[in-house]
Amino acid sequence: MPETAGQTFIHTPTPGLPEFDYIKPASLTAASQFLAEHAGEARPFMGGTDVFVRMRDGFWTEKYIVNVKGLDGMNDVTFDPTTGLTIGASVNMNRLIASLEVKEHYPLLAEAAHTVASYQLRTRATLVGNICNASPAGDTIGACMVLDGTLHIHGVDGMRKEPLSTFFVGPGQTVLKPGDIATAITFPIPPAGYAAKYIKLGRNAIGDLAIVGVTALGFPDRGAPSGYRVRLALASVAPIPLVPTQAEAILAEKPITEATINEAAQAAMDASTPIDDVRGSARYRKLMVKNLTRRAVTQVWEQIRE
Ligand SMILES: Cc1cc2nc3c(=O)[nH]c(=O)nc-3n(C[C@H](O)[C@H](O)[C@H](O)COP(=O)(O)OP(=O)(O)OC[C@H]3O[C@@H](n4cnc5c(N)ncnc54)[C@H](O)[C@@H]3O)c2cc1C
Repeated sequence: MPETAGQTFIHTPTPGLPEFDYIKPASLTAASQFLAEHAGEARPFMGGTDVFVRMRDGFWTEKYIVNVKGLDGMNDVTFDPTTGLTIGASVNMNRLIASLEVKEHYPLLAEAAHTVASYQLRTRATLVGNICNASPAGDTIGACMVLDGTLHIHGVDGMRKEPLSTFFVGPGQTVLKPGDIATAITFPIPPAGYAAKYIKLGRNAIGDLAIVGVTALGFPDRGAPSGYRVRLALASVAPIPLVPTQAEAILAEKPITEATINEAAQAAMDASTPIDDVRGSARYRKLMVKNLTRRAVTQVWEQIRE
C-alpha cells in the first residue's frame, strides 16, 4: 500500500461477497494515484449499490475497493443563478430529490431519481454512480443528458471535463481511464420556458429497471424552423443511452402537430436497437419507444406551447 493512500482495512468475507481490501484514501490525488497504479484490480465506489451487487454476483473481482465518497467537496449541492447547478458525486439520490434548487429549476432530475428503486436504496445510490455505471437502463442518465450535464473528472493529470454526449462507449463502458474519479456533475441554466418529462416503463411500479425509458425536454427556440426544440434520450433500447437525433430534427424542422409528433416517435423507434431479455422482448421495446416518445413529447409540447 502506498503511504498516500490513507487507511486500509481487510474486509472479512461474508457469504456471497469475495474477499477484497477496502481502501479509504485521504485525498483525491492519493485516490487517483492508487487507482491508476492498480489498474484492473482496483475500483472506486460511492453508494456501492452496483459495485457490491456485481461483486456478490461474481461479475467483478477487484482486489481493492476504493471509497471515494466525501473527498474534496464531493458532498455539496450548489446553485448559481448564472452558471447553474453542481451536484457533488457523493450526493445521494434522496438528497438530490429533497434539494429546493433541484425542485425549482431542475425538477426533471428529481422526477427521474424518484423512479430509481426504493427510498432505502436511494439513501445510498448516487446520480454520478448511476452515470458512471453506464447501464443503458440507468434511469437518471437521460435527464442528465437532456439537461446538458458535464462530468468533472479528477485523474492522474489533474481535472478535466467530460460532456455526457460523448461519455458512454458501450454497456458498462465509458471514456473513464484508470485513476479517473468523477467529482461532480454540473448543469447549465435550463433553456427559458422549458418543460420536461421522464416516462419509465417497468415490470412493476417501483424497484425494477426500465424496460424502456423516455426523457423529453422541450423549449421555444426562434432559431428552429418549428419554433421549438425537443431534446430526447432513450433508456434500455440500445447499448448506450440513446439520443434519437432524427426524431429531434423532425421536431425542430416541421410545425409541431400530432402528425409531426407521430413521425418523430416513429423515428425514435427506428433508431432504437434493443435486445430481448428477462424484462421484455426487443419487439415490445421498440413499440414502447414509439408509444412513450409520443406520450412524453405530447405532454412536453402541451406545456411549452402555453
Ligand atoms: C435493488 C436495486 C435496485 C435498483 N434499481 C435501479 C433502478 O430502478 N434504476 C436505476 O437506474 N438503477 C437501479 N439500480 C442500480 C443502482 O442503484 C444505480 O446505478 C446507482 O445510482 C449507482 O450509484 P452508486 O453510488 O451506488 O454507485 P456505485 O455502486 O458506488 O458505483 C457504480 C459504478 O460507478 C463507478 N463509480 C462510482 N463512483 C465513481 C466516481 N466518483 N468516479 C468514477 N467512477 C465511479 C463504480 O466503479 C461502478 O463502476 C438498482 C440497484 C439495486 C441493488
